[in-house]
Amino acid sequence: MPTALRVREVGPRDGLQPEAPLAVRDRLELIGALAGAGLHDIEAVAFVSPRAVPAMADAAEVVAGLPGGGVTWWALVPNVKGAALAAAAGVDHLTVTVSVSETYSMRNVGMTTAESMEAALTIAAAAPTVDVVLSCAFGSPYEGEIAPDAVARLAERCRDAGASVTLADTTGVATPRRIADVLDLVGDQIGLHLHDTRGTALVNAYAAMERGVSRFDTAVGGLGGSPFAAGAGGNLATEDLVHLCDDLGVTTGVDLDALLDASALVARLVGRAVPSRVAAAGPRSRLAGSDG
Ligand code: ZN
Repeated sequence: MPTALRVREVGPRDGLQPEAPLAVRDRLELIGALAGAGLHDIEAVAFVSPRAVPAMADAAEVVAGLPGGGVTWWALVPNVKGAALAAAAGVDHLTVTVSVSETYSMRNVGMTTAESMEAALTIAAAAPTVDVVLSCAFGSPYEGEIAPDAVARLAERCRDAGASVTLADTTGVATPRRIADVLDLVGDQIGLHLHDTRGTALVNAYAAMERGVSRFDTAVGGLGGSPFAAGAGGNLATEDLVHLCDDLGVTTGVDLDALLDASALVARLVGRAVPSRVAAAGPRSRLAGSDG
């Protein structure tokens, strides 16, 4: 079990992307609340076509309004053009998605997995910091099982190119058994990006932590999910992971009470209750007679 986690908050990007577009000032208020809660890695925007993902429009405007103060800001870019827009806006930490599922890749970005990997490596060669997010790493809505050695080969190519790797369970099909099968080949020096479609996100995170994984993508409230993947389901909720880590004595740097305020804010902004269990029930530290 690691003593500390590096939690990358993806709520302003993955969390909001399937929602009705919010005003830039509302997005910035949410981002400010998350940074204030102690999240030091935040994926704030995506430089994607606003026609494809209307909620991610005006990325440069959001970036221009980001607060200062020790936060590493990340932007998702789908291609070389997106990387150029991010660079022009002054974002130097990029996430680039490559789908391990051929069918998902063709449907989502119109490229084979190999073509998509070439594009990611081209971006990695030019940008200061690139994290390649291998989507559908634990299974695909189209092909079903994904061979762990296919994931391992792609991860190896990313590392050879100087990029870090995050494995995404895009449609929430991972289980602790599948996590173990993949980590056996890929190792623990990866990030995990988990979706809770089938209620397994937190148990998968715990299983990965037991194997030494210390980087996680989470979204405040448990919002999110690819608008291009049927039944994608929300992300692992940041507050649910932080709540677990607080109890385990694993440091996240995040203040849970401040994070729950940010969660209440995002619920207000999207106009409904969020999926997070801890947001709904309250943390165990608030139980009467709790030892904290
Ligand atoms: Zn996601």
